[in-house]
Amino acid sequence: MADIIKLLPDHVANQIAAGEVVQRPASVVKELLENAIDAQATEIKLIIKDGGKSLIQVVDNGIGMSVTDARLSFERHATSKIQKAEDLFCLDTKGFRGEALASIAAIAHVEMLTKPEHDEVGTHLKIEGSKIVHQEVAVTPKGTSLTVKNLFFNIPARRNFLKSHQVELRHITDEFHRVALAHPNIEFHYYNNGSELFSLPKANHRQRIVHVFGSKTNQKLVPIQEDTKVVKISGFINKPEFAKRSRGEQFFFVNHRFIRSPYLHHSVVAAFEGLIKSGTHPGYFIYLEVDPSSIDINIHPTKTEVKFDDEQTLYAILRSCVKHSLGQFNIAPALDFEH
Ligand code: ADP
Ligand code: MG
Repeated sequence: MADIIKLLPDHVANQIAAGEVVQRPASVVKELLENAIDAQATEIKLIIKDGGKSLIQVVDNGIGMSVTDARLSFERHATSKIQKAEDLFCLDTKGFRGEALASIAAIAHVEMLTKPEHDEVGTHLKIEGSKIVHQEVAVTPKGTSLTVKNLFFNIPARRNFLKSHQVELRHITDEFHRVALAHPNIEFHYYNNGSELFSLPKANHRQRIVHVFGSKTNQKLVPIQEDTKVVKISGFINKPEFAKRSRGEQFFFVNHRFIRSPYLHHSVVAAFEGLIKSGTHPGYFIYLEVDPSSIDINIHPTKTEVKFDDEQTLYAILRSCVKHSLGQFNIAPALDFEH
């Protein structure tokens, strides 16, 4: 029988990988914001048009890229963040798969302007369908600007699946909230169709939460704090009386990364037992710091799931930490802004 197996060309492999990484405009926003953070930006601008369907742009003042790196960044498995498999167990960056830019460039029209701090001039690249179609030297500030237009231009089924501008914008804003809450030490600006939706100065955690969700949030927050060998916990829970029927203000961050964890959510709910009506959900902003070697985040391309080495211990510590704060709050309801 004749041989029939062929290696897929790169642009096809990229398009397949893109299906996993990029579900909608908000996934692009997440990847670009994370890249800006990994590039040590202190100020990040997010610019959107039509819920991200016409334009997504992220501008950072981070370390930028050399011309060679700029070109290479669009190759699959091209990353500056890990070099060997063991590095996966001591990650201190958001990215490590080297797939985001390659995936995005396979399904959208991408433009990059980038310059490292000490270079005289920078690089301007245009990429269409995984190919670099334009390259020139450019005068541009330190950092990187990534522009993504015509998302899913070559995948009509995905393009048609996109929801209204408002719905896509809501997903982007959810993603923006998560990143902004995880990094209060970074200044963020977020524009949609020319109007500024958020302008967030560098702040502490409490101030950032208040800037994101409004001044009324401040009175809801009760600080939590625990420091053990297994985990360092900080952040806030909402007072029981603010529990809501709808879910929404529930945030877990593990080592500055937003994650979903029904298991840990349950531990917080267990701590609130008897204090909130059944069918309502407590709000919380919980920051966990653990040894990077005790978790695995390489479970799904979007990295919002984490496997913990010792989930049960974490569950117990978190529950007692939240319980403790709820108890303290009952005897000392006045909490000041500085905590
Ligand atoms: P990953 O983030 O997993 O490494 P990406 O495809 O997102 O993969 O990016 C590839 C590489 O391009 C990164 O490892 C980094 O070196 C570089 N890069 C991407 N975005 C930026 C940026 N905003 N500033 C500086 N370098 C960047
Ligand atoms: Mg990345």
